[in-house]
Parts: sequence; C-alpha cells; structure tokens
Amino acid sequence: MTVKKYGVIVCSECNRAWGIDLSQKTAKCPQCGKKNDVSKKKILYQTLDLRELQQAISKIQEKIIKSSI
Ligand SMILES: [Zn+2]
Repeated sequence: MTVKKYGVIVCSECNRAWGIDLSQKTAKCPQCGKKNDVSKKKILYQTLDLRELQQAISKIQEKIIKSSI
C-alpha cells in the first residue's frame, strides 16, 4: 500500500493556493489553468491527511489575500 502525500503550492500566474498530490510532476491551476512544474515549486505545506490539507490551503489563501492588499 502506498501512502499519498499531499502538498500546497501557489500558482505563479494567479497566486491561488491549492492542494496537489506530490507524486505528480505537473499540476494544473484550478483557477487559471496554468501548468505548474511541481519540482520547481516551493511546497508550502506537506501532509498525508486530506482534511489537514484543506485547512492548510485556506490558511495560506487567507495570507495571500491579506498580503496582496
Ligand atoms: Zn493560476
């Protein structure tokens, strides 16, 4: 059995944070559709737990919104 590891990355195009499966090589942004190269991205958060991943995404997204004002 393989354990999936998830991470949070931020799109370089539109600054949206979202969760990905860290075994993928590229991740397509759900907002603008840009392909992000996972190996070149900074992984802002890593977890094995999907619920924890969701919480991390909303926290990071909140920070991005605050810092962009
Ligand atoms: Zn994007």
